[in-house]
Amino acid sequence: MTLIKGLAAHAAGAELLPFRYEPGELRGQEVEIRISHCGVCHSDLHLISNDWGISQYPFIPGHEIIGKVTAVGADVKGLEIGQRVGVGWQSNSCGLCEWCTQGLENLCPTAEATCVRRHGGYADAVRVNSRFAIPIPDALSSEGAAPLLCGGITVYNPLRSHGVNPSSRVGIVGIGGLGHMALQFARVFGADVTAFSTSEAKEKEARALGAHHFVNTREARQMREVAGKFDFILTTINADQDWMSYIQALRPTGTLCFVGVPPSPISVHAFPLISGVRTITGSPIGSPHRLREMIDVAARHGVKAQTESFPMAKVNEAIDKVKKNKVRYRAVLAN
Ligand code: NAP
Ligand code: ZN
Repeated sequence: MTLIKGLAAHAAGAELLPFRYEPGELRGQEVEIRISHCGVCHSDLHLISNDWGISQYPFIPGHEIIGKVTAVGADVKGLEIGQRVGVGWQSNSCGLCEWCTQGLENLCPTAEATCVRRHGGYADAVRVNSRFAIPIPDALSSEGAAPLLCGGITVYNPLRSHGVNPSSRVGIVGIGGLGHMALQFARVFGADVTAFSTSEAKEKEARALGAHHFVNTREARQMREVAGKFDFILTTINADQDWMSYIQALRPTGTLCFVGVPPSPISVHAFPLISGVRTITGSPIGSPHRLREMIDVAARHGVKAQTESFPMAKVNEAIDKVKKNKVRYRAVLAN
């Protein structure tokens, strides 16, 4: 292939426009993937509007990619032309640091992100280091699997790492792209699951996805009623909240884990942390090993994204709908 065609942001917050780039020689460790589907993660929206100050324009967003391998570099082992694979947020790591050698490549200080200072998956093709292209089993549809590659692993990894099990009481805050997959995984782990949402209209679907209970976070009374109930609360929302009310919802030794990125610093009192040994933490995506595990769990337990499909060319419509919190529950672009 000589030119890769995609849709790029050319300035902060701008509409995406058709854009082509020349990917150069295929490097030894790289695979080229012909993209069939790409999910629209809220992180793409943060990058388009340069919320994190790391965006360089023009760039093609997109990091929930499914497609078929069309070329393999000379040093690639274990992937073949024609194989269906998925790519998430991470496209490379050094492979040598203490984190990479432990299989925690998502913590590599020089990790490369699929669509930060390089071009991602709102395109017809992409190239990544083959270690970050994960085989997709036949049991998963491409559209249902694409959002697992970022949103899915981002919620699976902390639920798994924090030992969520049938005795756990788990809260999932924000029932969007990440949150609706978190409800499913928390249920697969056997936990008692509560959905925290600002959208009352999502209650029925949240229960169908795995929630045993539903809390409308706009109702102060409902928040007070769940005080002291949870072992683990995972927040996926990209907005500021009264975080003290979530700390108060934790049992002693409970954990509030951030995967969603609120715009402002998190402000809480130290007392409930001290007296109840409660923890505030965060979690970034997951390693290739965890990705493979998560894909296997999803295939065996029927976890998949509930999607709204858009043709790739209608990317701006999809982004607009995500911005308005109108998508149920993940927009996926299809070529
Ligand atoms: P999304 O599909 O837009 O869902 C976000 C949800 O947050 C919404 O559906 C809504 O749920 C809730 N929400 C939105 N605005 C709110 C407000 N003003 N107040 C309270 N709740 C609000 O987004 P997403 O793709 O799931 O991504 C969520 C966040 O995770 C983003 O910040 C993204 O950058 C981040 N992220 C982090 C990682 C990581 O590695 N840590 C990976 C991927 C994404 P309800 O309607 O239920 O209230
Ligand atoms: Zn993402």
